[in-house]
Amino acid sequence: MRGQGPPAAPLIYPETVNDSPDSNRPVTSPSTVDRRSFLGAVGAGLALGYGAAAAQLSNSKPTAGTRRTASTTPKRRAQNLIFMVADGMSAGTLQLADLHLRQTRNRQSHWIDLIQRDNDSSRSVIDTASFNSLVTDSAAASTAWGTGQLVENGRIGESPDRVVRSPLLLRAREAGKATGLVTTTRLTHATPAGLACNVIGGDRNDESLIASQLLNRGFDVLLGGGSRYLAGPCAEAGLVTVSTGDELAAVAAASSRIDWSKRERLIGLFNRSHLSYELDRPATEPSLTAMTRTSLEWLAGAPGGFVVQIEGGRVDHAAHANDAGSLIAEQIAFDDALGAAIEFVTNRDDTLLVVTTDHGNANPGLTDYTRYGIEGFARLEGFTRSFEWIMNGFDRIDRTDPSQIHSVVEAATNISLSRPDLDVLRRWLGGETVDPFLLANRKCGPLGAVLSNFTKVAFMSPNHTADYVELTACGPGSGAFAPMMRIDQIHGVLCEALDLPTEVLL
Ligand SMILES: [Zn+2]
Repeated sequence: MRGQGPPAAPLIYPETVNDSPDSNRPVTSPSTVDRRSFLGAVGAGLALGYGAAAAQLSNSKPTAGTRRTASTTPKRRAQNLIFMVADGMSAGTLQLADLHLRQTRNRQSHWIDLIQRDNDSSRSVIDTASFNSLVTDSAAASTAWGTGQLVENGRIGESPDRVVRSPLLLRAREAGKATGLVTTTRLTHATPAGLACNVIGGDRNDESLIASQLLNRGFDVLLGGGSRYLAGPCAEAGLVTVSTGDELAAVAAASSRIDWSKRERLIGLFNRSHLSYELDRPATEPSLTAMTRTSLEWLAGAPGGFVVQIEGGRVDHAAHANDAGSLIAEQIAFDDALGAAIEFVTNRDDTLLVVTTDHGNANPGLTDYTRYGIEGFARLEGFTRSFEWIMNGFDRIDRTDPSQIHSVVEAATNISLSRPDLDVLRRWLGGETVDPFLLANRKCGPLGAVLSNFTKVAFMSPNHTADYVELTACGPGSGAFAPMMRIDQIHGVLCEALDLPTEVLL
């Protein structure tokens, strides 16, 4: 389908890269926008209103690089791209995981480590607003970096005026690169789909269509959940799949012997739906780190390079649930996978590594400045099960009996709830509205709130937020990320680095 181009974006930021990549043109990327002029524009924005500040930003004149000196600027072209997404990661989630690692393992997170590589990495702040909402969903967000279009929430690869562009993973494949998607959600979920698929006239929930596109478009590596949608079509197409962590490990051991001329595919489906939360994960399911390592070992041999998106998808789900224990466990599992990716790119100069998120979610934070803040936060080490496990437990008890509610929660968290806390949960489980912020009664909000009394980690809601989010990048092309960008502008930087055409219509 063809159209007249995307609608005007609601906010204006400096353009990131020229639409027609040309390795000979001088670097005028927005990474060179002077930080003082940026801050000045933001300061002026406080007086002029946001739109005026954005317009001033768009007029900021690129100046000499502020982030790197010429001698430390890496190459602009990348053979490979590793794009990592901690789905639904508010800034507070990154920071709580880092604080937890410092408190319990005496080290900081790999992500903070990467940010601190001052001369080797770039750090950006991303405005994630979609075409029709300041608060995006995962479909619109991944479509933004997958196609360079701002689309309506719920849409995969289709703009409001029906412009359908080839998504980045498909263009990479057509350019001769190997391609992969790795996730802890269903592979047919919105974040993998936005980089790889187009659901024309439909929405993100058409997962059968997404499944058929993932297979028909010939992507080389698919690792995650969603056998419910993918196992049947794989069998019909005669594609061999692996379904346990052990089988994946056997594949990993043989990956150096892959004959790329035969274009063998690696498809691992480890759950009918999403993979289990890290706290509940059975031994049969591989960790995100294992999937990351195997995908990189597999793809590394591809003669034309590769593009892979690796997603910690259940960070988002734990945030929706206001489940602090799972949230930190999922974020650390993602961070471990990031560590494996950093290991892969270390001592290479051909791989762009980008790590970001698609939106904030629930904005968690530690909120007690007395000693109880430290003691409460330390209690999260005692959380051994997810809220999903607790909710399943509530289905098997008499929900009107506070002592039974107490037992389920204690078994999962090692926390002994007080009588008033148990009364709140009993009323909520009985269908009462217990929180005056109505949204907070959804999902597991009241369960998260009563546990906040013990952990001192509180949440603002059980849903996505409009807050700007983190992006960190290293390797060739990373210098083109601006200090502040719109989410759809990420796409141009990726295409420029990979020397892929932009705005290819389907
Ligand atoms: Zn998301």
